[in-house]
Amino acid sequence: MPDATFTRLDGLGLEVTGQLLELDRSVLACRVVEPDDWCRRCGCQGVPRDTVSRELAHEPFGWRPTTLVLTVRRYRCKECSHVWR
Ligand SMILES: [Zn+2]
Repeated sequence: MPDATFTRLDGLGLEVTGQLLELDRSVLACRVVEPDDWCRRCGCQGVPRDTVSRELAHEPFGWRPTTLVLTVRRYRCKECSHVWR
């Protein structure tokens, strides 16, 4: 579904995984395309720990207010226990 909104999201490094149209708003489910699984503290590869969802307001999609639900994976480093997302 290539339209302007999705193209713009691509520029943010986000992939739209689902769209939900409600009466008064539309919700786009997104995830981050690039995995970010390297520990910035010691350089080891982290292991996925869990995911968190963040809701972000986005510019209206058509006439509906649009909410982005961004799923972010959290990683934990085995070496130094650093946790990031
Ligand atoms: Zn580390």
